Amino acid sequence: ATPTAIMVGMGKGASSGVIFKGGDALEILGKIQVTVFDKTGTLTEGKPKVTDIIPVNTSNRTNDNSELDDANTLLRFTAIAEKNSEHPLAKSIVQNAKDMNLHIESPSEFVSIPGKGVRAVFEGKEILVASPSQMKREGVDLNSIEENIFNLQQEGKTVVVTTHDGKLIGFIALLDIPKPSAKTTLRELEKLGIDVVMLTGDNQRAAATIAKDLSISRVFSDVVPSEKVEIIKQLQNEGKKVGMIGDGINDAAALTQADVGIAVGSGTDIALEAGNVVLLRNDLFAVISSIEISKKTVGKIK
Ligand code: ADP
Ligand code: MG
Repeated sequence: ATPTAIMVGMGKGASSGVIFKGGDALEILGKIQVTVFDKTGTLTEGKPKVTDIIPVNTSNRTNDNSELDDANTLLRFTAIAEKNSEHPLAKSIVQNAKDMNLHIESPSEFVSIPGKGVRAVFEGKEILVASPSQMKREGVDLNSIEENIFNLQQEGKTVVVTTHDGKLIGFIALLDIPKPSAKTTLRELEKLGIDVVMLTGDNQRAAATIAKDLSISRVFSDVVPSEKVEIIKQLQNEGKKVGMIGDGINDAAALTQADVGIAVGSGTDIALEAGNVVLLRNDLFAVISSIEISKKTVGKIK
């Protein structure tokens, strides 16, 4: 495209809430054949709500309110471990504990295990909060709660499990809903003949439920950031021009690998830096607007 056409395209982008970081992104976008969407925070709101707090009773019951006490203890210990985490699941759990007027002290040690969970030390004891699969790798026996977890995941919920001092104290389920613009955007992409793929670090059942809701047939779940990159490469090796849409630190490398990386503006700074295109609003339909702008821009050259 001519420099003038590029400038016009960028201007149109800006008025639709889309920043193109360079003329290249503007030109390639209209040629993409596959769009790969991250799930959490991209297709979904990224504001998971705590729906279930299920303590696993290990101690002897001391009074009639012990069940409530157990739930509060589970929520409090989990929130203490999550207090310093930036993850949307962590923020939601901490907020929920605050809403319950629980006192959330700071842990003496904290480390996050990206894509897996958090590990903290409080009052000299370790608190681990992580995905069920990570807990199993840690050697925690989940047999007694496996079916319950399975059923919650079947509802599209993400489940995190908590241990205190090496003992299982329970699990918390959270539900994140698709953005209102997700469905219309995906249908429009299909009309344009562009394939849709979903990628997520979340578990297979929760991913499948969201995918079904949005009618996405190609889904990769339980993927770590490096695997997200590999999946983009695989699609490129099939000869396709790939657009990746993401918001998280976990998506940065995949955004860079894609032919066009589209960062959702509400996302993390690292994703915003990695993307060639930034969507300023939370509305995914801007993906369609920017493809149209790109096509018009390139159309003007000849
Ligand atoms: P996504 O790719 O969908 O954005 P992530 O890679 O961030 O998901 O996380 C994958 C999974 O790792 C989560 O579904 C959760 O089970 C677990 N996880 C990640 N961070 C945390 C955390 N701070 N607390 C508990 N679990 C976490
Ligand atoms: Mg995400």
